[in-house]
Amino acid sequence: MNVYDSARMADVLAPLGFESVDTPEGADMVIVNTCHIREKASEKTFSELGRLNRLKEAKTAAGERMVLAVAGCVAQAEGEEILSRAPYVDIVLGPQTYHRLPELLARAQRAADAGTGGGGILDTEFPAEPKFDHLPDAGQATGPAAFLTVQEGCDRFCSFCVVPYTRGGEFSRPASEILGEARRLVGRGVVEIMLLGQNVNAYHGAGQGGTSWDLARLIRSLAEIDGLTRLRYTTSHPADMDDGLIEAHRDCEKLMPYLHLPAQAGSDRVLAAMNRRYTAAEYLDIVARLRQARPDIALSGDFIVGFPGESDDDFEATLDLVRRVGYAQAYSFKYSARPGTPAALLATQVPEPVRAHRLERLQALLGAQQLAFNQAHVGSRLPVLLERPGRRPGQLVGRSPYMQAVHVEVDESRRGDIAMVEIQAATSNSLAGARFPGGVRAA
Ligand code: SAH
Ligand code: SF4
Repeated sequence: MNVYDSARMADVLAPLGFESVDTPEGADMVIVNTCHIREKASEKTFSELGRLNRLKEAKTAAGERMVLAVAGCVAQAEGEEILSRAPYVDIVLGPQTYHRLPELLARAQRAADAGTGGGGILDTEFPAEPKFDHLPDAGQATGPAAFLTVQEGCDRFCSFCVVPYTRGGEFSRPASEILGEARRLVGRGVVEIMLLGQNVNAYHGAGQGGTSWDLARLIRSLAEIDGLTRLRYTTSHPADMDDGLIEAHRDCEKLMPYLHLPAQAGSDRVLAAMNRRYTAAEYLDIVARLRQARPDIALSGDFIVGFPGESDDDFEATLDLVRRVGYAQAYSFKYSARPGTPAALLATQVPEPVRAHRLERLQALLGAQQLAFNQAHVGSRLPVLLERPGRRPGQLVGRSPYMQAVHVEVDESRRGDIAMVEIQAATSNSLAGARFPGGVRAA
């Protein structure tokens, strides 16, 4: 979502003459778009700001200016602290106010003209009117696959998570707006869209004729767009995985056979303490129904180890759930106490060495599953959307339907095609192959 937000910030600034560049050196403005989900991500903000301040000082010494802004969820949660710890920051803005960037920039420039320093402008409100009402059309797409935010914020309040506080309450964009943005993306050569939301399957946007659409309904309408060949969505909450959405995986050919469905843990006691509102058995039942609807569906997940109070047995239950599901891919994290969340106050925090050891064991299991999943494709042919240049000339990198990264020996003019690729090798992170001679060009 931060990738999408950053692109939208570039859209907002484009009419003022700004263009995106690849490095911060020499830039007139630098926006650090931050993530607050875990402490590690959050801490990076301050070290990055120190580094950028040296570039800003170099610009000033050359008689020029660099506006330094901090956006995203660290800005939302720690705005005041940023301004006091890094007083050289000109603008601090939250994830819901970036449509106001031109106005904030003008204020920062006025403050700089007046010689009062950058001005330290802070805008971390949750405006009543959603930012989407004020954003310009999504700008130039940079490749054949694009993100599209359909839903933001979350009302679930899992006890470990900052999202409801930093992104705010659950908000779904109206379907017509999403369809319009999707058509514009397709008009610019996009063939695959990843629908985004912190809790994307809680989507319930205004549909046509005063109705409310759920995600399955939205997907069915998006699938009617000619030229749009692939649809995906992320991230889903298991408790919002309803029958209609499972049926969409059966019926909608454009919906790719891949689903990121975070389990977080396998112990019911821990799941309850996390306020996840499903049991391990319910999660496994959803997986079984998904596999019935779409037998080849690849599953991905998120896991947290060392949640406060997690015992050895609780952790074994997580390993057990992972063995039962068999993931194609997964992300796993050590629990990180986040300020303001209920779990951070629990007295039963798990010691760091225990968390580290559990993470190691879980990652070994998930890594082995991922490798096995990828190796099972060696020798088969997969349609791959060729997205971007590879490391070597004569190589492109794309995605299989199952979200695997595939390195393909193919002429670079094929970028944007969906090519049939014969898979020749696999590691735990990617596949490699060559375009199948005479293989169909599916797009
Ligand atoms: N909405 C999604 C998750 C969004 S946050 C869901 O409900 O599953 C992305 C992932 O970060 C989470 O799935 C979780 O595994 C991890 N995460 C969130 N807060 C965390 C914390 N305090 N410590 C460690 N991992 C965390
Ligand atoms: Fe955070 Fe996801 Fe829980 Fe919402 S559902 S509070 S985003 S972990």
